[in-house]
Amino acid sequence: MSNGLIVSISGPSGVGKGTVIAKLREMLPDCRHSISVTSRDPRGEEKDGVEYYFRTREEFERLIAEGEIIEYDQYVGNYYGTPLTPLITMSGKGQDVLLDLTVAGSLALKEKFEETVTIFLLPPSLKELRNRLTGRGTESEELVDKRMGQAKKEIADAPKFDYVVTNDSVEQAAEEIAAIMLAEHGRFKRRSETVEKLLAE
Ligand code: 5GP
Repeated sequence: MSNGLIVSISGPSGVGKGTVIAKLREMLPDCRHSISVTSRDPRGEEKDGVEYYFRTREEFERLIAEGEIIEYDQYVGNYYGTPLTPLITMSGKGQDVLLDLTVAGSLALKEKFEETVTIFLLPPSLKELRNRLTGRGTESEELVDKRMGQAKKEIADAPKFDYVVTNDSVEQAAEEIAAIMLAEHGRFKRRSETVEKLLAE
């Protein structure tokens, strides 16, 4: 049996990554989600071990030193990282794993695990991205400008990803990602055993 896919999805803040991933998980119930470790505080109803493993900065740094964090990044002053063991275990059992990482995080993971499938989620336009950021109603004009500047820098890294998907409609973006995953399963290296078995008949 071949390993499950490791699929890392990134995109600028406000692009709707969380919503697309939630839709995708609904469409692909057998798909697993990598639970990250973070040093940020839980928000609202978030529970340890569900949305994230919530740890102190010191505990996080210890996990890095122990080699338990395969990639990590800092976002708004907090650490976020992918724990190694669960990722290897799930993929080794043939389960597809979805990751929601910063742009730098996806690229770092690909460096470590070349087979990682990286997907960049784009907004339909910068104007629409600004609308989505403003629509949240929680951020000042100045902060929205800052996030737009950051978004442009991140979009400049899109050519380093394997795939680019535009989030025009959540349903369509999720379907496109599901189609990418289906195609990735058909790659020769994942089907080599099947071919060998046929040839041995
Ligand atoms: P939030 O605090 O809104 O849950 O997440 C903030 C950002 O951290 C999101 O862009 C998310 O993709 C990113 N993130 C979450 N977990 C990880 C991780 O393990 N590694 C990296 N590099 N980024 C992460």
